[in-house]
Amino acid sequence: MEEKFTIETITGKTSYIPGSVNCGFYETCMIDTPWEMHNHKKINPQYLLLTHGHADHFRMAFLFRGKGAKIVAPKEECIFVENPEINVRATFSWAIPPDAMISSLMKGVPCKVDIYSENFFYPGITVVPLPGHSISQVGYLTSDKIFFTGDALYTKELWNTFPLPYSIDPLLVKNSLERIANIDFDYLVPGHGKILSKKEAIEEIGYHIERINEIDNLILRLLESPCSTEEIISDVLSSLEINNSLAQYWIAVTVIKSHLSALTRINKVDFFLENARVYWERVK
Ligand SMILES: [Zn+2]
Repeated sequence: MEEKFTIETITGKTSYIPGSVNCGFYETCMIDTPWEMHNHKKINPQYLLLTHGHADHFRMAFLFRGKGAKIVAPKEECIFVENPEINVRATFSWAIPPDAMISSLMKGVPCKVDIYSENFFYPGITVVPLPGHSISQVGYLTSDKIFFTGDALYTKELWNTFPLPYSIDPLLVKNSLERIANIDFDYLVPGHGKILSKKEAIEEIGYHIERINEIDNLILRLLESPCSTEEIISDVLSSLEINNSLAQYWIAVTVIKSHLSALTRINKVDFFLENARVYWERVK
């Protein structure tokens, strides 16, 4: 699939390439990589700043490192960039999954990371921790007040396409969304979807938090009587009318487990083991 691109100026020294994965630029820095990039001869960043270690965001990183760019990524996300196989294995509890079970979204080209985001100092760029979608995702705020937030904020448009987007901890996701709302920016560039004004971003943040709470409430309703892990996954997927695709199933497994775990931490759900099955139930 060839993705044609144009670099669009947002304001001042900040620009971006809109695409299925948005990619930003600020002076000699590039932020995340597009899904495909054939005509990249004129793009030679000094630094490539990655928001997190999901293969769709660093798909082309190896190419820019090959041209001399230094790769910058959050410390705890580096292992996924340097060894994308880890994300594949984690899905299947570290066993080798059958090849046909693996979504192309997870398959990445390994790329060495040169600098931790936490140790990266570049005039005009602020690194903002935004964990929850992944273990230590960060956002990059430029001095032009443009905020690149990776996958911390999912827009309504994205929720409509897939009502159960990936997260590993909904409580952290909410904290990160509140952090975004408190930052002084003019425009927000999400990892996927349209660029947002501050006002639009605040509305989208409200919507995102609402949807997280709705998923919690759906799970609590379904757990009126105890359900096994597989049952609750299947019940949530059918309630949300998500079709039978393995890629969506594996995303759902993580997301639903992340909600179950969060609900146990706030004492709304409990679990027990019976007949070699883990069951979950609402605390009454
Ligand atoms: Zn992601």
